[in-house]
Amino acid sequence: MNFTTNFDIVRQALEDFTTEIYSPNNKVIDQIPLDQLIQKLDLSSWIKEGGLEGQVLKDFLSAFLSYQTRLHHSGYLGHQCAAPHYAAALGGFINNVTNNVPSIYEMGPSSVALEVFLVNWMLEKVGWKPTPLTVHSRMSEENYGGGVLVNGGSIANLTALIMARTQVAPEVWQEGNPDGLSILLPSESHYSLTKAAGILGIGKKAIHFVEVDKRGAVIPDSLPGIFKKVQEKGHFPIALVANACNTPVGIYDPLDEIADFCQEQKLWLHVDGAHGASALLSETHGHKLKGVERADSLVWDAHKLLQVPSLCAALLVKNHKHLDQAMPVGDNASYLFHDKEQPGVDTLHRTIETTKPGLGERLFFVLGAIGEGGMAGFIDRQYQLTLEVYHYLQNLPDFECPAQPESNILCFQYTGATMDSLFLRKKLLETGEFYLTTTLFKGARYLRLVFMSPNTEFGHIVNLVTSIREIATKV
Ligand SMILES: *Cc1c(COP(=O)(O)O)cnc(C)c1O
Repeated sequence: MNFTTNFDIVRQALEDFTTEIYSPNNKVIDQIPLDQLIQKLDLSSWIKEGGLEGQVLKDFLSAFLSYQTRLHHSGYLGHQCAAPHYAAALGGFINNVTNNVPSIYEMGPSSVALEVFLVNWMLEKVGWKPTPLTVHSRMSEENYGGGVLVNGGSIANLTALIMARTQVAPEVWQEGNPDGLSILLPSESHYSLTKAAGILGIGKKAIHFVEVDKRGAVIPDSLPGIFKKVQEKGHFPIALVANACNTPVGIYDPLDEIADFCQEQKLWLHVDGAHGASALLSETHGHKLKGVERADSLVWDAHKLLQVPSLCAALLVKNHKHLDQAMPVGDNASYLFHDKEQPGVDTLHRTIETTKPGLGERLFFVLGAIGEGGMAGFIDRQYQLTLEVYHYLQNLPDFECPAQPESNILCFQYTGATMDSLFLRKKLLETGEFYLTTTLFKGARYLRLVFMSPNTEFGHIVNLVTSIREIATKV
C-alpha cells in the first residue's frame, strides 16, 4: 500500500465529509460518551498492531469522521473557529510533509518568505510601516513595524503583554516583577488576557477593569477616573487593552478615543483584534477599527474570519524594536542564537514557541485561492447576515437581543417562556441540527450565535426559531 493510495482514500473521505453537510440527515454535532467512542474506534488495537491503511483506513475514517463536529454545516453557529477554505489544507499538507520551521531562516527560507510577506501585508492593512525586506538585523534603529505568526490569539496576547512589561520594567528579566505592576482591561475581554496576567505574575488583584456601556464597549470618559484610582493605589499599568471586537457580543471599542487617552498618559495600547481585526480588509466594516494605527500592538487571528484552520495568529507591532527586545533570553541557547551572516531573518526571539509549524502556509494558500477581495467578500457576507438576523429576531415578540451586532456575533434570549438559555442550548444540540453557545453578558445568560460557516443562510435561522418555539411548547 503506498502513499498515493492512502492519500486518495483520505481525500475522498474528506470530500464526502465537507459535501455531506448539505444532506438534511447530517448532524452538525453528534456526541457519545468518550469511553464508548474510544472503543468504537478500536484505538488500542491500531496502536498495538499498526496496519491502518487501504480498506481498513477507509472504515476507520468513516467512524472517525462521523463523530467530527461539522464546522461547514449550515447549523454551525458555535465557537469562533473557521469553517476552513479547502486551500488552507493544501498549505498545511505541504508543511506537514516538508516540516520546514520558519523560526529560523535556515530551516525554511520559503516558509519564512511567506510569513514575512504576510506580516507585512497585515501591517499595511493596519496602517503601520512594513518591515524593509533587506534589513536583517533585529537591532536596527530604524522605525518600522514588525510582527510574527504564532500558535493562537491567547499566546499572542500573552506575548503582547510580555512586550509591554519589558518596556515598563526591563529589570524583570533579571530581578522578577517589581511591586505594583497592573493592567487596565475592559470587563468584556477574552479570558486569555486575565490568564496572561496570572502567568505574568501580575495577578487578578492588579487588574483594573475599565467601565463599559450597555453594549459592552469601553466608555472613554471613564478612563481618567480609573487611571487616577490605579495611581492612588501605587500601581503602574503596563498596558491598557481594547477589544476589536469583544468576545461575548462582538462589539468594537472606540479605539481612536482610547488612543487619545493612552497617548496623553504614555500608556501602552494593546488591541485584541483576535476575532475582529479581519474587518480591516472590508471597505464596509474597516471603519470599526478607526484609530487602530495609533495602538502599540495588535493581535489578529487568521483562523477566525479569514477561513484559515487553527491556528494562525499574528502579533503585530507598530515599532519592531518592542517585539525584538521583548524577551531577552537568547544567551542561554548558543546553538540557536549566534552571529551569522544570512540572506534572511530569524523570528525565534519573538516567540514563546521554539519550533513552530509553517503557519504562513495556511493563510497564504487561502489568499492565493480567493485573493484579499474574496476574503473581504466573505467578511461582508457574514457581518451582513448577522445584522439581518438581528433585525428579524428583534421584530419577533418572543426574542430579544442585548445589543445590535457589529460583527458576526449575535446574542439573544428567548422570552416566550421562562426557560434557561443553558437548557435551551442542550435541547438544540440534542437535535443535531444546530450547534451554538451561550455567554454571560451583564450578569445574564444569553444564547450566542457566531456566523462562521459560509453555508449558513437566513432561512436556517428561521428554522432555528421554529425549533426553539417547539422546544418551548414541550416543556
Ligand atoms: C478567540 C479570541 C482569543 C483567543 O484566541 P485563540 O486563537 O483561541 O487562542 C483572544 N481574544 C479574542 C477577542 C478572541 O476572540
